Amino acid sequence: MKWSKEVENGITRRKFVKNTAIKGAAAFAIGTGGFALPASAGSNQSSPQISGKTIREAVRQTRVCRTADVVVVGGGPGGIGAALTAARSGADTVLIERYGHLGGMGTGGLVTIIPNLSDFSGKQQIAGISQEWVDRLERREAADYPKKEHWGSDDKKLVAYYEDRSFFNVREKTVIYSVHIDAEISKCILNDMVEEAGVKTYLHSWGTEPVMDGNTVKGVIFESKSGRQAVLARVVIDSTGDGDLLPYSGAAFDSDINPALRIANLSFSYWIANVDLKKYQDYRKAHARELADQMREIRRRGGNAGFLTSNLKDQDGLVWVFPRYANSSQVDVEELTRVEFTGRKEMLMSHDYYKKNIPGFEHSYIVLTNPQLGTRGSRRVVGEYALTEKDMNTNKPIEDTIAIFPDVDRGKDSLKYPVTYIPYRCMVPRKVNNLLVACRAFSSDEIANNFFNLIPHCIALGEAAGIAAAQSISSGVDLRKINIRALQTSLKKQGAILPA
Ligand SMILES: Cc1cc2nc3c(=O)[nH]c(=O)nc-3n(C[C@H](O)[C@H](O)[C@H](O)COP(=O)(O)OP(=O)(O)OC[C@H]3O[C@@H](n4cnc5c(N)ncnc54)[C@H](O)[C@@H]3O)c2cc1C
Repeated sequence: MKWSKEVENGITRRKFVKNTAIKGAAAFAIGTGGFALPASAGSNQSSPQISGKTIREAVRQTRVCRTADVVVVGGGPGGIGAALTAARSGADTVLIERYGHLGGMGTGGLVTIIPNLSDFSGKQQIAGISQEWVDRLERREAADYPKKEHWGSDDKKLVAYYEDRSFFNVREKTVIYSVHIDAEISKCILNDMVEEAGVKTYLHSWGTEPVMDGNTVKGVIFESKSGRQAVLARVVIDSTGDGDLLPYSGAAFDSDINPALRIANLSFSYWIANVDLKKYQDYRKAHARELADQMREIRRRGGNAGFLTSNLKDQDGLVWVFPRYANSSQVDVEELTRVEFTGRKEMLMSHDYYKKNIPGFEHSYIVLTNPQLGTRGSRRVVGEYALTEKDMNTNKPIEDTIAIFPDVDRGKDSLKYPVTYIPYRCMVPRKVNNLLVACRAFSSDEIANNFFNLIPHCIALGEAAGIAAAQSISSGVDLRKINIRALQTSLKKQGAILPA
C-alpha cells in the first residue's frame, strides 16, 4: 500500500540550512513589547501586515519533509493505538508527538493507571494494545493488578485487601481488573512497540495545523527545532487529546463542561518519594480522626490533601498527589501557565506540612512533577455520532461497535448497565474528510466523556481509527463508508474484544 516515500531524501545539509534560515528582513516585532517573531522558513514575502489586534502573516513556503498513508498527531494513549494498528495493517504511518517520549498522560502526566479493563463479572472487556502494554510491563515487573482469578470476586477479605492497595481495584464491592504501571518503563516499551511496527516517529514536534484542500485534510504542518515542515497523508488522525487540529480543519467541536465534572479540572501532579508508608498506615489506623483534621487543615491552607500509592515492586515509598484546578479553559495558555505556577506553590506548602506533621513523611522528598500538565477535558469533536449518557443506559450493542467499555463508575446505574458499546462514527467529524479523532476529544457529551476518556478507552478508540484509516486507503473508500464488518474482524484479529 506504499502510496508514498520520503521526499527530498537527498537534500543536502547545506541546502536545508539555506532553505530554513530566517531571513533577516522577515524577522519582525509587535508593538512596544518587542517580541522578535521569526517568519517561517522560506518566506517569500518580506513583512507581515499588522493591523489593530491581529497580524496577517507573510505568505510562506513550507517544506514537505515526508509523505505517508496515515499521519497521527499526538503520541498518547489514542495516538499509540492509532499508529500501531495503522502500521500493522500495512499503512505507511507517521506519528508526531510534542514531547520527547510517548504515552501522554499515562507517562508524562504521571497518570500511571490503566483502569477498568474488566466489568463487574470479572470479564475482561478491553484488551488489544492495552493488554500488550501490560504484558510487556509485567515482564519487567513494572505492572501491578489483582490476580486474574480474583476479578469479579465479592469475597469480603479479597475486596478489603485489594481496596487497601488501590482505590482502582474495587468497584461496587467487587474486584475489577485495573493495572498500576511504571511510567519510565512504559516510555521505553512504547518506543519499542512503535519501532517494531515500523512507525516513523517525530518527537519534539508540535502538530500545528492540518493542510486543507476545501473540506478535505491532506496532511499536517508541524514545528520543531528543524523548523516548520509538513507531512502529506491520505488520512490524518487527531490524537492530541485536545483536538488541536479541529479549529483549523473547520470541524465543529464542543468545549462546554459542567464545572462539577471530573473532566472540568486541570491537575498539577507530583510524586513524593521515600515515604515510610508502614509508619503512615499505622498512624492512619490508630489516629483516623487526627489525620482527618490534618487533611482539613492542609485544605484550609489551600494545599493538597490525599494521595495514592504506587503499589509497584520496590516503589514502597512513592506516593502520587494529583490536585485539581478549576479553570476557564484547558487549552488557554494563560490558564495552563497559572496552574503551573499555583501548582508548584501549593505543592511546596503541602509537602512542608506533610513533612512536619504527618508520621511517615519525615524523610520524604518531592521526586518529580508532571512533565505534562494534567488536562482532562477540552475540545470534543462533533462527529457523525455523539456518544451520550443515553447510550450508557442501554444494554444493546450499536451496529458499528468498535469497542466495549466496562461501565463501573456509576454506582447502581453501572450494575444495571455494566458495559457501553462505542460506535465507530464517534471518531468521524461531520463535513470534514480524511480526518479521524481518536483520543479524549471523541464525539461525546460531557457525561459520556467524563466516564470514558480514560487511558485504555482512548487506546481502544485509537486501535479502531488506525485500522479504519488503513482500510479506507487500501480499499479506496471514504472513511464514512468503510466496511464495518471488515473493521470489526481486523480489530478482533489484533486482540480487541467485541460483541459476538
Ligand atoms: C490527573 C489526572 C488523573 C487521571 N486519572 C486517570 C486514571 O486514573 N486512569 C485513566 O485511565 N485515566 C485517567 N485520566 C485521564 C486520562 O489520563 C486521559 O484522558 C487520557 O490519557 C487521554 O488520552 P489521549 O490520548 O486522548 O490524550 P493524552 O494522554 O493527553 O495524550 C495526548 C498526546 O498528544 C500530545 N500532543 C498534544 N497536543 C499535541 C500537538 N499539537 N502536537 C503533537 N503532540 C501533541 C501530548 O503530548 C500527548 O502525548 C486522568 C487524567 C488526569 C489529568
